[in-house]
Amino acid sequence: MAKEIKQKNVYLFGNKFADGKADMKNLLGGKGANLAEMSLIGVPVPPGFTITTEMCTEYNLHGRDGVIKLIKKEVEEGIAFTEKIMGSKFGDKKNPCLFSVRSGARASMPGMMDTILNLGLNDEVAEGLVKKSGNDRFVWDSYRRFVQMYGDVVMGLKPESKEDIDPFEEIIEHLKEKKKVTDDSQLTAADFKELVKLFKKAVKDKTGKDFPTDPWEQLWGSIMSVFDSWMNERAIFYRKLNNIPAEWGTAVNVQAMVFGNMGLTSATGVAFTRDAGTGEDIFNGEYLINAQGEDVVAGIRTPQQITKEGSIRWAKLANVTEKDRAKNFPSLEETMPKLYKELMKTQEKLENHYKDMQDLEFTIQDGKLWMLQTRNGKRTGAAMVKIAVDMLDQKMIDEKTAILRVEPNKLDELLHPVFDKTAISNAKVVAKGLPASPGAATGQIVFHADEAEEWAAKGKNIILVRIETSPEDLKGMNVANGILTARGGMTSHAAVVARGMGKCCVSGAGAIKIDYKKRTLETGGVKFEEGDWISLNGSTGEVYNGKIETRTPELSGDFGKLMKLADKNSRMLVRTNADTPHDAKVAREFGAQGIGLCRTEHMFFEGIKIKAMREMILADDEAGRRAGLAKLLPMQREDFEGIFEAMHDLPVTVRLLDPPLHEFVPHEEANQAEMAKEMGISAAEVKAKVESLHEFNPMLGHRGCRLGNTYPEISEMQTRAIIEAALNLKKKGITAKPEIMIPLTGTYKEMKMQEDIVRSTIETVFKERKDKIDYLVGTMIEVPRAALVADKIAESAEFFSFGTNDLTQMTFGYSRDDAGKFLPVYLEKGLLKNDPFQILDQEGVGQLIKMAIEKGRSTRKKLKVGICGEHGGEPSSVEFCHTVGMDYVSCSPFRVPIARLAAAQAALKETKKTVKKATAKKK
Ligand code: ADP
Ligand code: MG
Ligand code: MG
Repeated sequence: MAKEIKQKNVYLFGNKFADGKADMKNLLGGKGANLAEMSLIGVPVPPGFTITTEMCTEYNLHGRDGVIKLIKKEVEEGIAFTEKIMGSKFGDKKNPCLFSVRSGARASMPGMMDTILNLGLNDEVAEGLVKKSGNDRFVWDSYRRFVQMYGDVVMGLKPESKEDIDPFEEIIEHLKEKKKVTDDSQLTAADFKELVKLFKKAVKDKTGKDFPTDPWEQLWGSIMSVFDSWMNERAIFYRKLNNIPAEWGTAVNVQAMVFGNMGLTSATGVAFTRDAGTGEDIFNGEYLINAQGEDVVAGIRTPQQITKEGSIRWAKLANVTEKDRAKNFPSLEETMPKLYKELMKTQEKLENHYKDMQDLEFTIQDGKLWMLQTRNGKRTGAAMVKIAVDMLDQKMIDEKTAILRVEPNKLDELLHPVFDKTAISNAKVVAKGLPASPGAATGQIVFHADEAEEWAAKGKNIILVRIETSPEDLKGMNVANGILTARGGMTSHAAVVARGMGKCCVSGAGAIKIDYKKRTLETGGVKFEEGDWISLNGSTGEVYNGKIETRTPELSGDFGKLMKLADKNSRMLVRTNADTPHDAKVAREFGAQGIGLCRTEHMFFEGIKIKAMREMILADDEAGRRAGLAKLLPMQREDFEGIFEAMHDLPVTVRLLDPPLHEFVPHEEANQAEMAKEMGISAAEVKAKVESLHEFNPMLGHRGCRLGNTYPEISEMQTRAIIEAALNLKKKGITAKPEIMIPLTGTYKEMKMQEDIVRSTIETVFKERKDKIDYLVGTMIEVPRAALVADKIAESAEFFSFGTNDLTQMTFGYSRDDAGKFLPVYLEKGLLKNDPFQILDQEGVGQLIKMAIEKGRSTRKKLKVGICGEHGGEPSSVEFCHTVGMDYVSCSPFRVPIARLAAAQAALKETKKTVKKATAKKK
């Protein structure tokens, strides 16, 4: 024998006793662990036992016989244990005990796996139970449910595709038609008895096998089916979506049945200890009298509310009069006041015990309350915040727990407009794209950016629809309520810019066909014209036909309170990426402590600025460039004044010009002609210049500090604009704190040359103005080489800001603009766990960051370090930034609160770890 040591594979619970407890979820699954815990704290649960998740793995390795060998004896003991408490016997013809067989994994996977109820019935047992209970309707109802569930799940009659209907449902419908009734509750005992016969015949017809009459055969069949359901398509899909590993396996809970279908003194229901949608501290839920299992959620009958208050609320929404409600849909509080009180006490007890909002399942059998399940309830972002803050106020949890309990990403839901609930339920989806930037938007379709501006100026609500967007569309995007593109991924231009603006965007909706000339949009057979209304859900990627009302969510007191707590507990600061005074203001309202990245190139696209910019680019020599730059100087200075003023007293990191120059010139012939006319030169000259700017690999081409080092006059002009703006504000009593950032350095000399240009320009301006301000000169670290020689670069740079978009691109060698072709496949095939442009690759890129910080600080102890890539607003990446010792993260305005919370959590997790270590040492 291989295994001599006896391992425990089955855990008993019931009658205030249990082998397991709440913290054994890994072994017993969430349901099993909580059934044990409830039993221990004296909450009435039907007795039973849990077969461990390890046995699921065993089953997947060694199959049915292998696992039965391991657990047979313990399962028999479990049944005997249950029989003793229940005072009845499994399979007994006079006094039978029935069982349920329920799945239950570590993480809750609601409805994904299978459950079988009323197990242990056959014709003889049924007759016996009729005699014992004196209630033949209840017995035959239970029996037909059992045959259906077992037939579906164990014998495989459940339809595979959505189009097919369950053969048992078909039989029921048939019978109802024949009897001219609409509701299951109108069927009689004789009808149910008839159903059992018909169901069994259907099983025989479809499978060629008789329905098993031996209770033990039924039991083993059900246990194996629950193990099997771990591997069903639904469960696999759900695991993928929620990052649950397949190795975990499901536990199996075998539990004595209690019956909610024994008549008018019995019921079944589900409840939440607080409102899962709003977070309000109101007990709520639904129930049905004389019903079983999932009847409440299955939509067969209209469920009734548990509390009277909830019932009245419900009636208002459902347009039910008070008279009708009281007569036909009364609350549990009204129908069974005593049991209601008991349920109320139990829910309070459970919430106080678990110290979190609970999602409960219960059954009332002939006037006695039984709890069947409890778990921490899923909830919306708003509810998450409110519940955490309320529980802190109610002294149920401490500050740390409150902060750690809110998922940072869920805050997103609170920050963007949302669709009106009733309006959205009637809306029709016409296309689906990527959820590129969250929020809800509704507006009239416009296809061109300049027209978007015109329409918006007239006060119209618009959605900008483009095949894809480019920097030229910025202004149109800025005035649109939302952006829809046919092409492009989550990191496409449209997506990144929209997220930055906090604007709803659906990108890459491949099914939509856009005709710019005819100004039409076609999708799924529906044709839209310019001016037609559509609506976008940027959180799901759904595109709706027509206008749907939206609401701006309120950033309530709870939210503010949570944010204050977060700041109190974090070490890192959170800055924002903002290019305009408006964005800066928004970010400041969200709590940004400065700007971590102000991109100057976006400023050049507006109005006459682009003309001066193009003049500079078209110039053949330095003198010509200087002439163009001289025109840009006052405009740029004004831009900086606006931003510095909005961010007064807080630091603003300004990045000098970064993108390749060809991005500023038109590529379409018509636009080139227009530009030629404007500049007073020939179209051929423009064309030639545009062609000369062409690069094979512009992302690795003439950009970043390479521009500033080949054309120092550009860096000079920008520096001058920055410093003059700051000095102008100083005169008005406003403090600006500029930090000048050199992009894309890879060598010390590259950085040093830029530093010298910047510093000498500043000295000149100081002399001219006879005034001074404080400033810093630093660099972005985004070329891998810069990370490698960070100690050298830090001799010149006073700060580092990790540009993790480019750093990821160059470390992986993935072009961000072309990754759409292979990244999804890589994720699908498991070659990459995450999209490294969304979630920082800590293993690879993270090493470069860590090393660069260490090297940088070895030269310059007080080196200021931050991150300004998209990752600066992604919680797991923020945590990484904390652990490697960054001073701040910077992210788009709408992600600032998320980063603040993530920064606090990172700090709290760290202290938790050190505390643990410290106590471990003491021992
Ligand atoms: P899921 O994990 O999909 O929620 P459950 O195992 O909770 O499935 O079972 C679904 C429902 O079946 C429960 O909510 C409960 O109403 C009913 N049920 C399960 N076990 C029993 C039992 N022992 N007695 C009465 N009803 C039960
Ligand atoms: Mg359940
Ligand atoms: Mg970059």
